[in-house]
Amino acid sequence: MQTAILWYRNDLRIHDHEPLVNCSNKIVIPVYCLDPSLHGKTSFGFPKTGVHRTKFILESLHDLRQSLQNIGGHLIVCHDNPAVAIPQLAKKFKAKEIHFHDEVTHEEIVCEKQVIAALDDSVKVFRYWGSTLMHDDDLPHDIDHCLNTFSKFRNRVEKKCSVRKTLPTPKKLNTPQIDSPGDIPTLEAFFADYRVEPRSVLSFTGGESAGQERVRQYLWEEDCLKEYFNTRNGLLGANYSSKFSAWLSLGCVSPRWIYEEVKKYEQRRHKNKSTYWLIFELLWRDFFRFVADDVGNQIFSPEGMRNEPVSWQGNEDAFVAWQEGQTGIPFIDANMRELNATGFMSNRGRQNVASFLTKDLKVNWLRGAEYFESMLIDYDVCSNYGNWCYVAGVGNDPRENRYFNVLKQALSYDPQGDYVRHWLPELAALPGKSIHYPFFLSQKTLREANIQLGHSYANPLIVPRSFHKLKPHNLD
Ligand SMILES: Cc1cc2nc3c(=O)[nH]c(=O)nc-3n(C[C@H](O)[C@H](O)[C@H](O)COP(=O)(O)OP(=O)(O)OC[C@H]3O[C@@H](n4cnc5c(N)ncnc54)[C@H](O)[C@@H]3O)c2cc1C
Repeated sequence: MQTAILWYRNDLRIHDHEPLVNCSNKIVIPVYCLDPSLHGKTSFGFPKTGVHRTKFILESLHDLRQSLQNIGGHLIVCHDNPAVAIPQLAKKFKAKEIHFHDEVTHEEIVCEKQVIAALDDSVKVFRYWGSTLMHDDDLPHDIDHCLNTFSKFRNRVEKKCSVRKTLPTPKKLNTPQIDSPGDIPTLEAFFADYRVEPRSVLSFTGGESAGQERVRQYLWEEDCLKEYFNTRNGLLGANYSSKFSAWLSLGCVSPRWIYEEVKKYEQRRHKNKSTYWLIFELLWRDFFRFVADDVGNQIFSPEGMRNEPVSWQGNEDAFVAWQEGQTGIPFIDANMRELNATGFMSNRGRQNVASFLTKDLKVNWLRGAEYFESMLIDYDVCSNYGNWCYVAGVGNDPRENRYFNVLKQALSYDPQGDYVRHWLPELAALPGKSIHYPFFLSQKTLREANIQLGHSYANPLIVPRSFHKLKPHNLD
């Protein structure tokens, strides 16, 4: 029987996993590499993988090891660069094949090439497309023309493509007993100071089991999907949106499996705009991956996909204030503090903080995107850089110069200020919506709420001109 290496990457599951299925009639060596470069620095000097995502990855590895063991497989965890570890394993086990899911962005492609170059020529390479709802091979042949706007892409895909059925999970694997399969390190090996944040929307636990459980909970137990369209722009609590992103990003759940669950839900419970909209959002995720595949490194360039030079004048202090949630604009600060404390931020929050950084503070969007890369529990290279390009105005957005008036957004999506009060206790005594504009309030009101701007809470870095249009008449 042929021996095959199964290289796990951002696909930490056993359900709907084509490389695993195709290895299941061979002697299979499943391997994951905890590449030390994952804990290097980004170009602006942030830790490449911050504490929230590191914790999530380690938990996902424990879960994967257990799931593989349940079907007779043993996961090897190497603490090395894949280009070093995988060829050594291939030699040791006399493997003649390697199977893995494709990635589409620069660092991952370089890594793949290095692995392949370091393998013996006799090792056959099998690559698979696996992280999107739609399969790359099923897209209309001229899809490239549709990748300049999401609606063109979506219309085309909805008309011309269908979602492939999920693949069955193998019942039994044939893996040799391995003496030293490699420890999964503890989080403390990377970060000394992790603490659980009780204000988090959800306690995100990594792994396929927890991911599938979250899907079951959101759809079946709590029946939240029927309201998704109306709740999706929320900011507080576990269920305003699905929170599937962290598990999708690391491949702990397959988007096709989610699709099948949504279709079952439509048959058994409700079929409405909300059920359509969740799939619609998964198509956004697909879109950014296909765009990244199409445009290559443009998603990492300051000019983005538009390839038009933009001058970024924002300074260091402005960036640091944004990063630390100390800009003096409560809606921005609340969102950034949520990100820092939990690794998660709502989509509405992400759009606003990205717009504020790039359009109001005029800081280079790449710096914000790299900070997100470091901090997000659900970091996905294509969704992150694609969305940042979009909001910064250098992406494939048909609307020229989209701008978020942060005060307007705050008043619409957090009308009573509950979200800001949740994350900014120093402003909590300000009543109702006035918490969104302490800089417009009188000294008397601030004194009564025990707030001293510049001391207990930051003076605003800037009050954008657009805010003045919304300045309330009866402030106190
Ligand atoms: C500046 C910025 C950076 C972002 N970075 C990431 C990232 O690194 N990883 C990531 O998964 N998402 C990213 N997003 C997209 C979106 O904010 C998150 O997917 C969403 O907030 C996750 O919450 P949810 O799972 O509850 O989403 P839901 O609203 O429940 O949506 C369901 C799923 O659809 C997908 N989805 C929804 N919106 C988008 C979108 N705009 N782009 C791509 N996919 C989407 C996600 O996989 C999500 O889990 C970013 C958005 C912005 C504006």
